[in-house]
Amino acid sequence: MAWKKEILQLLGKEKVLFDAASRGKFSKDYYWYSPILTQKLKDKLADCIAFPESEEELVSLISFAVKRKIPITVRGAGTGNYGQAVPLQGGIVIDMTRFHQVLEIGENAVTVQAGIRIGKLERILERNGKELRIMPSTYIQATIGGFVAGGSGGIGSITWGNLWDGNVHSASVYTIEEKPRKIVVSGDKLEQYIHNYGTLGVMTELQLPIEEKTDWMQAMVFHDHLDEAINFAHQFSGIETMKKRLLSVCEGALTKHFAPLKQYILPEKTLTMIEVDEKAKSEFVELVAEHKGILAHTIPAKQYRKGVRLSDFTWNHSTLWACKNEDNITYLQVEFDIQHLYHQVHLLKKEFGGEVLLHFEFIKRNGAIIPTALPVVRFTSEKRLYEIIQFFLNIGAKVHDPHTYLLGFGGWSLRMDEIIKIKQKNDPFHLLNPGKIADVTSYAQV
Ligand code: FAD
Repeated sequence: MAWKKEILQLLGKEKVLFDAASRGKFSKDYYWYSPILTQKLKDKLADCIAFPESEEELVSLISFAVKRKIPITVRGAGTGNYGQAVPLQGGIVIDMTRFHQVLEIGENAVTVQAGIRIGKLERILERNGKELRIMPSTYIQATIGGFVAGGSGGIGSITWGNLWDGNVHSASVYTIEEKPRKIVVSGDKLEQYIHNYGTLGVMTELQLPIEEKTDWMQAMVFHDHLDEAINFAHQFSGIETMKKRLLSVCEGALTKHFAPLKQYILPEKTLTMIEVDEKAKSEFVELVAEHKGILAHTIPAKQYRKGVRLSDFTWNHSTLWACKNEDNITYLQVEFDIQHLYHQVHLLKKEFGGEVLLHFEFIKRNGAIIPTALPVVRFTSEKRLYEIIQFFLNIGAKVHDPHTYLLGFGGWSLRMDEIIKIKQKNDPFHLLNPGKIADVTSYAQV
């Protein structure tokens, strides 16, 4: 590699890795959930992995890459599911985890470096009587920069919605130019920087809203039938007097995979996993009884995140447990409409039976309850998978396809025209995460 010596001089040998094992490890994320992405991405490899520790180092690294026209892919913890952090065209993977400082904790917002792991940030906030609004179920590993650039929602979304719903205040971003510019993006302009797979710049700092810490109690509730559990979740999500952070409904056949919860699982019954304000416990217990649910296990707030964490079985963790237990498991990302949900679920179960196991994450967006879902699918072929996706679309569900690494093709209503405009300014040589924006030809010609 022609530039090995130069980059070593730039950062020092402690901060650049060239060995095959590291290149392999840091060139992957959790794309292996998708057999389709696995085929496409398994051989992609960075030339080296860089670990800058300061903005000065980052700026000189970007400047060096631009002069030499070397592709750059930014990485947080590499827990993304669509190959977002996979270097499609080799080059330098920049690991951001050494940017891990909390810069300021205010009354309503926290400012952090983008590579801080969310779990660490939560612990620090907790000591200050505060907490984040939303985070992915991978919060222990995942970085805040990776969440903003690669994620969507998660724990907390039942109250606060997704990343786009006012859950990021501002981002400091370095452009990919010979003289990188640091820009601060806020307000409406932030929309294009969320879930853009790090294609518009390297984020170094983020400001996020925070809330007073709540004492979260965790609960496992069982119902005989999926319909009953959905009805319970629907009612519960509409009750404002009970603060909640998690509302996850899993079909009975899926719960057999949740080995660490085995002693509490009631086989074949639908499981709802909940995080609710402990102050609302009696109201919550009453609601469960009213809905003929079985409250099989509760974890008091003082044990929150100390032993078993129910969130480890929600969001895309449910799929992970199924993948651990069975071959040929994959998943979809779906949004239903609460008005038609019961009918849609009925149609899906009739059509697919055990081939598609339903798992819902209820979220709230602008006051509206939205049953999102990460159905677990028994994979047989790409053709069959897309037949299943088509069925979801035909019955009026929205699918965010997790089997593509192309930005904009997975749904989420991204404004690709705006993203491409900003890309031209921030990354004029198209060196940042190249290959993730499909329309490169027209982009290059504009
Ligand atoms: P990475 O995977 O490292 O990166 C993600 C994207 O962000 C990449 O495109 C990368 O280039 C870019 N990026 C990273 N850092 C920066 C930066 N500083 N500047 C610019 N771009 C950057 N996602 C959810 O939204 N909600 C969930 O609840 C959820 N649950 C999950 C459960 C499991 C078991 C798994 C495997 C994944 C889950 N995910 C979920 C996906 C993923 O874990 C999250 O989106 C996570 O926040 C990604 O963070 P990361 O640090 O690992 O990012």
